[in-house]
Amino acid sequence: MSGILYIISAPSGSGKSTLVNEMRKWIQHLDFSISYTTRQPRGSEQDGREYHFISRGQFEEMIGNDEFLEYADVFGNYYGTTKSVLRHAAEQGKDLLLDIDVKGERQVKQKMPDAVSIFILPPSRKELESRLRKRSESENVHSEEIIRRRLDEARKEIENYPNYDYILINDRLEQSVDRLRAIVLGERLKRSGKPPSPDERRYLEAAEKSLKANMEEKIRSILASFDVSFPTAIETQR
Ligand code: ADP
Ligand code: 5GP
Repeated sequence: MSGILYIISAPSGSGKSTLVNEMRKWIQHLDFSISYTTRQPRGSEQDGREYHFISRGQFEEMIGNDEFLEYADVFGNYYGTTKSVLRHAAEQGKDLLLDIDVKGERQVKQKMPDAVSIFILPPSRKELESRLRKRSESENVHSEEIIRRRLDEARKEIENYPNYDYILINDRLEQSVDRLRAIVLGERLKRSGKPPSPDERRYLEAAEKSLKANMEEKIRSILASFDVSFPTAIETQR
């Protein structure tokens, strides 16, 4: 593939869908991969728009036919990205964004080390809990069990942050959108080899601040709120 492959992951409720929807508005030449999943559609989701919704049997047939770039079991359902999505983006000369979980990111980075991966963190465990509750209320689903499970799952996912290139703390939405834009445009600039204009230089500087190596001080207290110790997380680093 000739374009840039971006991977974005986050614990459920961190605001990833909100950020990705914002990105759709202002980034051009970027395709958004539509995954296949065996989970049931939720709310207003439509087949072929948010996901391709298929049965376990169909998914397993696609695994057998080697159609997936990566796939994983997430919360008891299969989710996967097909190789054809990459081919399609390359043919159109577009960059591609994958919204996938931490297991998917590992598989893609191993196959495509040039991919740019971004991990979104909530500002704290307390804020994540409040966002999960808010979303449940708006969807009219009230289950303490689901919220507890998502928070436990979040802790495990956060332990994978060292595998990512960039870390984005989704505190104030507007600022997060600006940072995400800086990362995407900054990577395009770096890879273009062209000298940056003063405006473009600002993107590069903003993106640099979100590089994992420059975020470690800022994420210490977030990791602590999830009971993820800093050294433990670092030990899993490649
Ligand atoms: P995810 O896709 O990561 O599961 P969502 O995008 O559905 O998360 O966001 C979870 C909830 O948090 C939603 O109710 C959303 O409106 C809210 N939210 C997202 N980003 C922010 C933010 N920066 N500040 C406050 N609330 C947010
Ligand atoms: P949801 O069911 O809330 O839409 O997504 C649950 C999780 O599955 C999210 O973390 C999302 O990023 C992840 N996911 C969505 N599509 C894929 C995919 O194609 N591959 C993998 N590995 N994870 C995915």
